[in-house]
Amino acid sequence: MKKYLLPLMMLLVFETIAFVLWLTKDNLFYLFNFSYIGMAVSLGIFLYIRKNRFARRVVQLLVGLYMLVYLGLICQENMQIEGFWYYLFTGVFEAATIHYAVAKIFGPLLFGRGWCGYACWTAMVLDFLPYRVPAGPRKKIGWIRYIAFFASLVFVSAMFLMHVKNLEHIMFRAFIIGNGLYYAAGIALAFLFKDNRAFCKYVCPVTVFLKPMSYFSLLRVKCDQDKCVSCGRCRRVCPMDVDVTDNSRKRKNGTECILCMECVKNCPKNAL
Ligand code: SF4
Ligand code: SF4
Ligand code: SF4
Repeated sequence: MKKYLLPLMMLLVFETIAFVLWLTKDNLFYLFNFSYIGMAVSLGIFLYIRKNRFARRVVQLLVGLYMLVYLGLICQENMQIEGFWYYLFTGVFEAATIHYAVAKIFGPLLFGRGWCGYACWTAMVLDFLPYRVPAGPRKKIGWIRYIAFFASLVFVSAMFLMHVKNLEHIMFRAFIIGNGLYYAAGIALAFLFKDNRAFCKYVCPVTVFLKPMSYFSLLRVKCDQDKCVSCGRCRRVCPMDVDVTDNSRKRKNGTECILCMECVKNCPKNAL
């Protein structure tokens, strides 16, 4: 039973967040929201421990679809980066700002880019494409993410400065159009570079937050150098080109790790 302590602890962490936010913000939504996400994540860890090969996909679909369909389309909450700027500028500390604070800004100090591996609704679709392991070397076009980041900031700032009316409505439309563009670009890049995660590597503006914060992540895959035989298999199966055999914070592409555990599952010496 000891091995099931981790999913139970994870559930406890999420339930604590759920209860604290429910009681402090007097909003039942937080109890439902964080309880649901906690249960999905705990179920995924439970399945992973049981060596179920679909464990990560189950969490991705449970959390990703909930956020995209329920929060995004039904509740009309813009959870994309434009929504974050929007709620930040209006001074509202609600769903989108809390989501960014927990999953993408401060949370990565604890669990790195777990969001990218288990919950992102863009990657939820990209991971179904045929290029799970990149076919070629990394391209030097990561600067595109900064353009996307500033474009989103300028877009929302401009609407505030011009006192555009019906901003809520515009943000919902921006959410739908933005998602359409993300999926189109993500799928096109995956086929162009033969790499499912090309969008994550070069374009996604959220990585401007995720990468520096995950550099300090408490949770990370480490290599037992005594067991490692330098076979290189972990590098070959990694979707993000991380040199996981280097335990230093400066490991190559270290801030790209999405904690998918493919390297761990494939190491013949259980060194990871
Ligand atoms: S890099 Fe962006 S698109 Fe990719 S999984 Fe992370 S948040 Fe999603
Ligand atoms: S797969 Fe395991 S043994 Fe091979 S290089 Fe990676 S950590 Fe070392
Ligand atoms: S394969 Fe390993 S190093 Fe690569 S992203 Fe997944 S967990 Fe991180």
